[in-house]
Amino acid sequence: MKKPVIDHGDCKQCGGCVEVSPSAFACNVLGFVDVLEAGPGGCYPEDEISEAIAICPEDCIAWEEERIQPVRKKPRQPDYRTPVVDYSGCNQCGGCIVISPSVFTCNDSGYIDVADAEPGCYPEDEINEVIAICPGDCIAWDEE
Ligand code: SF4
Ligand code: SF4
Repeated sequence: MKKPVIDHGDCKQCGGCVEVSPSAFACNVLGFVDVLEAGPGGCYPEDEISEAIAICPEDCIAWEEERIQPVRKKPRQPDYRTPVVDYSGCNQCGGCIVISPSVFTCNDSGYIDVADAEPGCYPEDEINEVIAICPGDCIAWDEE
């Protein structure tokens, strides 16, 4: 049986799904949206559920049988991370340059520069190694 599920972590209680499919969704006493028991024959109204999935502003409704991982249609994109240096902890040991010379360089003022790269083109393994060995704990991924 196909059953709709809601990722309550993302639900903003807008009530859109309840309006579209009141036989499948209802607001409980705590203000959260619940999935109701299926109607006669154990079936949910597929068209209504599909419409609720389409209009949910937070993309937090899905068919359970389609769900492989928690319902998130907008996963984080780790490929878009950029390494950043917190200069307050840097002692210019040069470890980052040795491990990842294509990314880290020393500028004329003696500070570590991070080379520009296209999203997803930083050498992930090297950067992770640099993060691990940096004695000042001053390198991190900026995931904004
Ligand atoms: S439409 Fe989505 S965000 Fe709005 S109440 Fe339903 S599950 Fe929550
Ligand atoms: S490894 Fe860390 S402390 Fe050493 S130069 Fe690079 S950023 Fe600075």
